[in-house]
Amino acid sequence: KAKMEGRGTCRSFEPGMDARLQERRQLESELVLGVKKEQFVLHYQPLHDAKTSQLTGFEALVRWSHPRLGLLPPSEFIQLAEETGVIDALGEWILRRACTDAAKWPLPVKVAVNLSPAQFKQQGLSLQVAAALAASELLPSRLELEITESVLLANNENTLNTLHGLRDLGISIAMDDFGTGYSSLSYLRSFPFNRIKIDRSFVSLMCESSESRAIVKAVAELGTTLGMTTTAEGVETEDQYRLVRENGCTDVQGWFFGRPMPASELHALFEQPEALTA
Ligand code: C2E
Ligand code: MG
Ligand code: MG
Ligand code: MG
Repeated sequence: KAKMEGRGTCRSFEPGMDARLQERRQLESELVLGVKKEQFVLHYQPLHDAKTSQLTGFEALVRWSHPRLGLLPPSEFIQLAEETGVIDALGEWILRRACTDAAKWPLPVKVAVNLSPAQFKQQGLSLQVAAALAASELLPSRLELEITESVLLANNENTLNTLHGLRDLGISIAMDDFGTGYSSLSYLRSFPFNRIKIDRSFVSLMCESSESRAIVKAVAELGTTLGMTTTAEGVETEDQYRLVRENGCTDVQGWFFGRPMPASELHALFEQPEALTA
């Protein structure tokens, strides 16, 4: 890919390449400034117990309130933030904001925060998390960090130490998007996860594909046997909800239960009669 050749090279195989490079560079400097000016917002998507459908928490999902382009989803800037190193500052802001927001909720349900692989490799991640908890006075049992399999590719001592360091704080760890990467079973044996989140790509095909149903069922059983909760991601319909429940998922998330929404709009969800608190 020409992209790999770096900034100086100017090989115009494709028309419009210069324009795209320029757009990327502009976005890059806007991102640095955006982090400084805190142009980001967290939206929260509800998480529910599969059996009882009680609220169990919210996942924090970042958006960039871009002055020129409007509200941008993470797919438009997280990778850039990783490539430029801005993710460290952005990630810390996200963590602190999520803890501060959650500490104000009227019910002590969980907040789940996504960590990018670059953040995970930072020295002192545990200290950063501990500081965010202390500053917000959020109980550690209410914080869950979500990491993807790519973090575990460097299956080494550091990875394991970092995970144990985080677990020692009393927070929980979820493996996000399970099934999309290498999905090595040794990950589940070696690393101290509390939860497996089964990727939306399996859940969305459950109605028409018996293979997808079999995979979801097998992962849910495996998770339960290993003492982990299993969340079905991307539940959009009542049929999908029924199927993930019947196939053993313990928790659910998706548009059928609620879209990600600004912190100021969560109060209606807290008025549900019961919630499962952390
Ligand atoms: P994820 O952690 O797997 O988050 C779930 C994504 O699926 C979210 O997209 C959510 O809006 C979407 N989703 C939830 N339910 C449904 C559904 O029923 N149907 C469909 N079609 N989609 C659903 P979003 O917010 O665009 O985030 C995309 C990814 O960006 C996240 O995937 C996560 O990997 C990353 N991300 C989001 N927020 C953060 C963050 O604060 N930090 C980092 N490092 N990454 C983040
Ligand atoms: Mg996630
Ligand atoms: Mg996910
Ligand atoms: Mg996903």
